[in-house]
Amino acid sequence: MSNKTKNVYVFGASRTDGDATMKNLLGGKGANLAEMCRLGIVVPPGLTISTEVCTVYTEHGQDAVAKLIEAEVRESVAFIEKEMGKKFGDSSDPLLLSVRSGSRASMPGMMDTILNLGLNDEAVAGLAIKANNERFAWDSYRRFIQMYGDVVMGLKPVSKEEHDPFEVVIDMLKEKKGVELDTDLTTDDLKELVQRFKGLIRARIGREFPTDPWEQLWGSVMAVFQSWNNDRAKVYRELNDIPDAWGTAVNVQAMVFGNLGDKSGTGVAFTRDAGTGEDLFNGEFLINAQGEDVVAGTRTPQQITLEGSRRWAQLAMVSEEDRRNRFPSLEELMPDIYRQLLEAETKLENHYKDMQDVEFTIQEGRLWMLQTRSGKRTGAAMVRIAMEMLRQGMIDEKEALRRVGPDRLNELLHPVFDPAAIKKARSIAHGLPASPGAATGQIVFFADEAEEWVRKGKAVILVRQETSPEDLRGMSVATGILTARGGMTSHAAVVARGMGKCCISGAGAVRVDYHARTMSVGGETYKEGDWISLDGSTGDVFEGQVPTKEAELTGDFGALMELTDKYKRLGIRANADTPDDAKVARTFGAKGIGLCRTEHMFFEGDRIKAVREMILSEDETGRRKALAKLLPMQRGDFEGLFREMSGLAVTIRLLDPPLHEFVPHDEANQKIMAHEMNVPLGVIKMRVDDLHEFNPMMGHRGCRLGITYPEITEMQTRAIIEAALNMKAKGIDVKAEIMVPLVGTVREFNAQARVIRKTADAVFAERGEKIDYMVGTMIETPRAALIADSIGQQAEFFSFGTNDLTQMAMGFSRDDAGKFLPSYLKDGMYERDPFESIDQKGVGLLVQMAVEKGRTARPGIKLGVCGEHGGDPASIGFFHRTGLDYVSCSPFRVPIARLAAAQAALDEGS
Ligand code: PEP
Ligand code: MG
Repeated sequence: MSNKTKNVYVFGASRTDGDATMKNLLGGKGANLAEMCRLGIVVPPGLTISTEVCTVYTEHGQDAVAKLIEAEVRESVAFIEKEMGKKFGDSSDPLLLSVRSGSRASMPGMMDTILNLGLNDEAVAGLAIKANNERFAWDSYRRFIQMYGDVVMGLKPVSKEEHDPFEVVIDMLKEKKGVELDTDLTTDDLKELVQRFKGLIRARIGREFPTDPWEQLWGSVMAVFQSWNNDRAKVYRELNDIPDAWGTAVNVQAMVFGNLGDKSGTGVAFTRDAGTGEDLFNGEFLINAQGEDVVAGTRTPQQITLEGSRRWAQLAMVSEEDRRNRFPSLEELMPDIYRQLLEAETKLENHYKDMQDVEFTIQEGRLWMLQTRSGKRTGAAMVRIAMEMLRQGMIDEKEALRRVGPDRLNELLHPVFDPAAIKKARSIAHGLPASPGAATGQIVFFADEAEEWVRKGKAVILVRQETSPEDLRGMSVATGILTARGGMTSHAAVVARGMGKCCISGAGAVRVDYHARTMSVGGETYKEGDWISLDGSTGDVFEGQVPTKEAELTGDFGALMELTDKYKRLGIRANADTPDDAKVARTFGAKGIGLCRTEHMFFEGDRIKAVREMILSEDETGRRKALAKLLPMQRGDFEGLFREMSGLAVTIRLLDPPLHEFVPHDEANQKIMAHEMNVPLGVIKMRVDDLHEFNPMMGHRGCRLGITYPEITEMQTRAIIEAALNMKAKGIDVKAEIMVPLVGTVREFNAQARVIRKTADAVFAERGEKIDYMVGTMIETPRAALIADSIGQQAEFFSFGTNDLTQMAMGFSRDDAGKFLPSYLKDGMYERDPFESIDQKGVGLLVQMAVEKGRTARPGIKLGVCGEHGGDPASIGFFHRTGLDYVSCSPFRVPIARLAAAQAALDEGS
């Protein structure tokens, strides 16, 4: 091997260096362009500068990059010239280039693109003659100056209210000429525009627009590398967990033109529906336009297929006749091109065995494919596509399971509008159903303000004329997005689907006035802060807040869930405190309750009074009296849980939180309490003061409560055992597991276990019958993990309380970490929030150690986890590898956990 590394890879009809496996080096776009060439699909030839060069750029700057790759780039441009039969910088028939980013993971619209590169005052004349179209040549030139001026030279609006300075110049010229549309401008107007643009750049930037094509090329390549670190790209990486170190590749490709007249056009297509997953080829195109025009959403695009066109017309309320005449599909307009496109999309989907998102350009009756990638899709589409491809024999069961991101299942569990409420709601506008879901929120017009409002706890709908990548953060926090312009492939639509966020695009009747901060439609005006509701599945916009109800699970979802059971080893239980939660958990497939936090029941209705009475009691007799009032209520709760979980284990944890959590801390509520309990305010105040602790999370809580007040443990055990016997009598199969919290020593556990067993025996004796139950413990203090072998000799099961274990092992207060964790995460001190995803290298070691020790002491001991980590896919992978028996998470995360557990098992096997 030569010691000179290869940095630039070409692709074209006669030679292709890369292929689809080289995504890390060539980025997704570069690798797929190479693969398309290998498949014999017609692609404009080009070169890809590797992602490794981006690292050189970031670390050593542009001179180092130029030195490293100059010879290779020159050689590769010569290759493109040969393929196209044109010369770069030629004044009679110039080769024009596009320069685009392309990282490993697709980041649509986040980085920069330059089109029509290579034009100058001489080349534009050559292009005009060659294309036999002077207007086209000058239009391309002015577009190039505009893009290059913005992206490379940095001529951008200075405030959010300011319009794009180039667009201002265009508007001024249009006004002077008395025309309305860009297309009304004559060739001479475009020539004048070019002069004005150059003047604007000179005035604002203080430099001339570069005329040397090579200077243009280097400027653009460096700008793309630079854009890896622009704000929106950083935000996108942050939101999608893409490492900064990956870098972007740069693709330099021969230009083909969709704006050469009526036999030219450009479009975007999906091999299946990215919103619903339906197996239907679909997409949009514009005649006589360049690629960015479709994505920018400034013109209303036409549909590719006849079927899609008819569906669109119905939604847009366009008559069939109107549709056929004014918005015909590509299938009708250019049947030959349509056939070629269909062939290419089928070939690509069959090759990649996944839904593809393709871009294409038609230049004077010739089809060129510009890009293919796995299409972004909603969670619902993810599930449907995976399951349909499985049924179609394209992928196997394991691959179907791998195709769905566990967290994306969340979207399928989102609420939908209540059909009864929808009937009564007033529909005020209609747009394209760009991304499904039901969203209700207050109107906000600017992305940064959306963030501000959400920070204040409001739900917002971001309403925009159209969105751009700058709006990303605002889009990510909004509950829904509504745009007046743009089609199904506009920026808003693509990004919203990627986020699984409800979005309606192209609601043409909506007029947005950013200055007045209003949106008007059908003669009515809605202000910032007014409530609206969006149905992303139908495209309907409603006035006011429309109530929602829980989602119903679809057939494919159920089938996917069944598949998880075939492959996963981990059991999935739920953390549930009420019979209702237990019921939901069971419908989602939970196989038991891993944690019932009994204290949650203490707040309901009148119970809090009895709890407070117990807390205020001065002696055991008083406490027992109060506890006696709680007993029947607790027993009723447990009966409900056992009934819902018949045949499955129910782990009930004894009282855990510090007692101060049950008393009011403000005087107004203390007064109410004093009144209710018929004691002087001073007594309440004194007791609240008594309960004060500097560090309550490490204070009088957990088993320390049961040890100091064994009567609490007695009451809770009695409630559990009596409930179990009562349910057993009704034919319910009860599997009760009593769990002691926050144990740190064997003696603590033994002391509590003794109270539990003694109480249970007493109940058995009273009732003259018995039931099996288990007594186990949480492992949630580091000491418990360290001595898990001794504890394991006594306890019949362990459940890892990874919330407390994380808090105590890391020394991060669960209640105070919010003050520093966000900046810690931003600075990379930790990759993930350790309360969200288990710190595998630190806290995880404690779990591993306790598993080993526990099993040594008691082979076959049942081991689970019930901290929040039990619902986090990455943590579930870790718990699987660690050999736990089950994870327990909130009911709505059960499907996510099931899938994550199946994927963990598949990863192990691969
Ligand atoms: C834990 O600590 O992980 C746990 C499940 O208990 P809690 O969150 O109630 O402290
Ligand atoms: Mg805990």
